[in-house]
Amino acid sequence: MSENAATDTILHFDGAAQRRLFEALAAAVVANATELTDLDRAVGDGDHGINLARGFKAVAQQLDSLAELPPGPAFKELGKRLVMTVGGASGPLYGTLFMTLGDQLRADEPLLRGHVIDACRAAVAAVRARGKSDAGQKTMLDVLLPVAAELDAGGPDLFDRLINRAASAAAATVPMRAQRGRAAYLGERSMGHLDPGARSSQLLIEAACATLRECR
Ligand code: ADP
Ligand code: MG
Repeated sequence: MSENAATDTILHFDGAAQRRLFEALAAAVVANATELTDLDRAVGDGDHGINLARGFKAVAQQLDSLAELPPGPAFKELGKRLVMTVGGASGPLYGTLFMTLGDQLRADEPLLRGHVIDACRAAVAAVRARGKSDAGQKTMLDVLLPVAAELDAGGPDLFDRLINRAASAAAATVPMRAQRGRAAYLGERSMGHLDPGARSSQLLIEAACATLRECR
């Protein structure tokens, strides 16, 4: 953790902000579902946007009850919703991401920046373990891992840097050869295509940063 990361800064993340965050995540997925499905048609079975939109529409219908929960239980519930509704490979993986985040966030204290950063890193590590996958294999982890690493530096322009990092990391999956998920069956033919899960991770990070930058 760098010295200027101000890890003990309290984040002003109340129920209203939590509602805005979950709403923004759902809106980003639903608005881009067609693109995600088209990307998955090129390297998979053409359902990534359909899968994720189904899950996040279920989340959008529960915004009122989700907003009332403390952050830990709220993220855990969001993850459970995704596991129950998304399906495919991405449902359990995004479910793991949000459920781990929920487990790690402390419900009974103000949210400290350092806790949130540690929770995000633990959540990405859990996806890596669940997917038995790593950087360079053309998956969502090619966005999640570099963005998690970028969290450490902190600083006033953190959210802009996270958004830029997510965009460049997603683009970097285009030349990769898939080694996990359905795209791996294509071998070399998976090269030259943006990974659908990398793109959905980028969209989620963008939406989260746009909302969270208001909470400082
Ligand atoms: P499915 O492949 O079962 O149809 P989706 O289309 O919803 O599931 O999601 C595909 C995305 O899931 C891929 O683009 C990739 O980013 C991600 N993915 C698949 N398998 C793994 C894995 N083992 N580890 C990490 N991410 C994975
Ligand atoms: Mg698919």
